[in-house]
Amino acid sequence: MRAPLPAPEPRGPDALEPPPFEQLPVALSWRCDFACRHCCISATPEATADEMTAAELSEWLPAVARQFRLVCFTGGEPTLAWDRLLAGIRACTAVGVPATMVSHGKWLDGDGANERMDLLAGAGLTFLTLSYDEYHDPFWPKARLLDAVGRAAAHGFSVWVKLVRGTRFSEGWADEFRAAGAVWAGVQDLYEVGRARLVKLRGTRVEPLSSCPSLASPMLAPNGDLFACCNAETLRATHLLGNAREHPIAELLARRRTNPLLTAEMALGPGGLAEILGLKDGSDNLCRLCAEIMRSPARVARLREALGRSDLRRQIVGRNLLFACQEYDVPALPLRRKEG
Ligand code: SF4
Repeated sequence: MRAPLPAPEPRGPDALEPPPFEQLPVALSWRCDFACRHCCISATPEATADEMTAAELSEWLPAVARQFRLVCFTGGEPTLAWDRLLAGIRACTAVGVPATMVSHGKWLDGDGANERMDLLAGAGLTFLTLSYDEYHDPFWPKARLLDAVGRAAAHGFSVWVKLVRGTRFSEGWADEFRAAGAVWAGVQDLYEVGRARLVKLRGTRVEPLSSCPSLASPMLAPNGDLFACCNAETLRATHLLGNAREHPIAELLARRRTNPLLTAEMALGPGGLAEILGLKDGSDNLCRLCAEIMRSPARVARLREALGRSDLRRQIVGRNLLFACQEYDVPALPLRRKEG
């Protein structure tokens, strides 16, 4: 039986309109053959879930992909769900939406690497994102990934490299990956969720608390759950939009657009919400502060009440207009494949 969806927000002249969606991350599985200490979803080689099928992906993605700038296959390690990865990329290609994947890149090494790259390119993948940091290093050292970046670039893929600012992060890594053939190498802070809650991060955070751009990228989980952001698995009461097996995925996304709490959090960030609540001693980490607020039904109720104030609504609408005009720190699309 279908779980009932919450009633939609009443619409009106001061309805809170969020900015357009950005990416649709699709987690094909929580499995990964690495077990990095900083994994924000605690992926392991043994992780199992009631995982989406290739047929479901082929139905869901064409229905909503055009609402996003790109679809990003992730996990866990997406290449461990090879058939579904190819099916998902083909579904995006069929409706003209760019697809990418976030991977540790080990599959770019050894026997069959060229065949795997051929299959991905044949499905329509033109660019891919590889992850590197001190936590990946014990499983796949930097020298091996630098070789892999060069191999993928030589095959014609545009390669992006995503680095995480851990305690041993070096600014020089980005230059090394660009020299190896990456078209873009960028750094992000570590989200203190999942296994990453156990990592000591003192002094590494630079991300502001006063907005949450991740809320422009709702995430589809392996079992069909659609979350408001990719770190929200533990915030089911407030950040779970519904399950794509129970409700049309387009309807779930439409509900996201009329959810004032999430729209407010995107504009003001957990820092802004803490200010509304008068919370003085909250965490200085974005997702941890979010959890401190959202796991308290009393705090959520006070926020919902405050969101009736017209001054606050005007502030949110203004911030979201700025978001809608914002340039994201990634290369312009579309990215080209190397000729013949
Ligand atoms: S701050 Fe909250 S909404 Fe934003 S990415 Fe973290 S968990 Fe998601």
